[in-house]
Amino acid sequence: MGEKMLAMVLHGPGNLVCETIDRPKCGRREVLIRVKAVGLCGSDIRTITFGHHRLHYPQVIGHEIAGEVVETGNEAGQFTVGDRVYVGSIVPCHRCEPCRRGWHGLCENIVVPGSDIPGGYAEYMVLTGDMLDRGINKIMPDHVSYEEAVLVEPLSSVYACQKHIDITLGDVVVIIGAGPVGCLHVELAKLRGAGLVIVVEQSTKRLNMAKQFGTDYVINSSEADPVAAVKRLTGQWGADKVISACPALEAQQQAVAMTRKMGKVVFFGGVAKGTLTPLDTNLIHYNLLTVYGHYAYSEMDLRESYQLVVSGKLNAKKYITHTLPLREIEMAIKLTRNGDAIKVVLIP
Ligand SMILES: [Zn+2]
Ligand SMILES: [Zn+2]
Repeated sequence: MGEKMLAMVLHGPGNLVCETIDRPKCGRREVLIRVKAVGLCGSDIRTITFGHHRLHYPQVIGHEIAGEVVETGNEAGQFTVGDRVYVGSIVPCHRCEPCRRGWHGLCENIVVPGSDIPGGYAEYMVLTGDMLDRGINKIMPDHVSYEEAVLVEPLSSVYACQKHIDITLGDVVVIIGAGPVGCLHVELAKLRGAGLVIVVEQSTKRLNMAKQFGTDYVINSSEADPVAAVKRLTGQWGADKVISACPALEAQQQAVAMTRKMGKVVFFGGVAKGTLTPLDTNLIHYNLLTVYGHYAYSEMDLRESYQLVVSGKLNAKKYITHTLPLREIEMAIKLTRNGDAIKVVLIP
């Protein structure tokens, strides 16, 4: 009988169970970590509730991971016991066409801890040979806490998006949706030199929290028409760049309607599977808009986001409103859903 550990195991949509399972063994080319912090991501909540197409059940989920190395295989050279590590959440194959083009997030054979292999919602986790070879794992400096490191993953996607649409000096940027990702968009847009950052959100709680990240204006979409409000704030011109970071169909419609001529719109947040957004495509046609989709990030985006957190240029601490034991994940989900929390970090 080997040693046991506590883990959150997803057996199917809506069926997450706190269990005592076998502690994973560390192979020759592997590293075992004691998970010290794991983020509750919006996508985790979706996966717990609705499942995920790539997930093999039963699975230990969780992909925003930081921990301490407790065992290393003989042929796993890059870490030593005691290292504090940030565990990169994508393992691209480096062989498929998207990988060869540098689009690692779109890798056709991507491995994501917490979906394809066991993730961080457990006391211990193995970093597989593939993760050590092709993942982006970092030994963290002492001044960065495990909790802060967890923010690197959601930031990577936000970072990749803003690089893609080139948010730059003086831009008028609208972010629709002030969840954790929306707040990251606000702070990063300011770091990149945006002149005016406007947040649109229907929850007063979330709007108030978004203010601390550098928002210039907030528009409560349950009280005011956000399109008219953005037009008013921009002399009827509209915003240079609009990021819809929320799952509502109206957010996508509003995004297109509040963008200036020749401006850029991003659908960052996905909508519910199977739903269709009715769009006035003449706004795109006559205003020469560019509509972007956004999802995931490349290795380079992750490296650069890690640097932003480690250097303190992005203040990761501010996002962590709650730290809870892993077994209280139900509470963590509730706090996130009702807008009381920005980011909940779980401690296994
Ligand atoms: Zn995430
Ligand atoms: Zn690939």
